Amino acid sequence: MPQSRAIAIFTDLDGTLLDHETYSWTDARPALDRLKHLSIPLIAVSSKTLAELEYINETSGLFDGLIGENGGVIALNGNVEQYGPATETVDRARENIRSAVAVPVESFRTVSPEVIAAETGLPLEDAIRAGQRHCSDPLIWQPAAKDIAVARKIAEKSGLTLVKGGRFHTLCGTSSKGQAMRRMIERLTVTWFEDASDDAPRQRFTTIALGDSPNDIPMLAEADYAVQIPSKHGKRTLPLLEHPNLRIAPQPGPAGWNEAVNEILDQITDTNTNKNSEVLHG
Ligand SMILES: [Mg+2]
Repeated sequence: MPQSRAIAIFTDLDGTLLDHETYSWTDARPALDRLKHLSIPLIAVSSKTLAELEYINETSGLFDGLIGENGGVIALNGNVEQYGPATETVDRARENIRSAVAVPVESFRTVSPEVIAAETGLPLEDAIRAGQRHCSDPLIWQPAAKDIAVARKIAEKSGLTLVKGGRFHTLCGTSSKGQAMRRMIERLTVTWFEDASDDAPRQRFTTIALGDSPNDIPMLAEADYAVQIPSKHGKRTLPLLEHPNLRIAPQPGPAGWNEAVNEILDQITDTNTNKNSEVLHG
């Protein structure tokens, strides 16, 4: 009889579960329904703020846990853990950068939502949520190369890092999506298996992670099964990392997500004796 096991899935959002242009996950619906049916927890892992992720989850109900700000903040069952640096540390480093460089420095934490909306093109309601930051802060500035070098040094001295992603330089902690994923597994293990009897063998989650970008590499590396979602306009997709169980999804976005998750579940679940269902439903 195949060994039944508990499974947890960690997924990036933009370009992975959500379509790059439409932000729709409709094409992943069959696999998402299967996860619900099998009581497999799905964790969102994103650079978005917790406020943004909570808003998505209010309307979609997709996720059992949330990891925001690229691993800086973790929420499970309403308990929020600031895993990244303290907000004051980020604020202090930003003020030090402001006094050290020649150009004006503002950031998502210092400006009004109206300015964030203008800078990002987000609707005002979304800009408000994007501004609710725990431990990372995108800078609003027009730096010369020497300003960036100065800012990087100050960030490093504060135990932080300055990451260029898309159009912003973001001041943030050095924790990654991979470290936050490990922390989330610890917390999931406590809540998920708390009802298991003491003499039962210690349970461990088999993990599946899905992502499309270099900042997903630490999360993919951490997983038992790694899925790389190819980019929509890409030619041939080169693997992001070496991993014994890496697969590149056959299509971009949620359609590829759907196929890859279903394939892995076909391979590793015995639907009659799924451990997640046993734990949840006795
Ligand atoms: Mg992405």
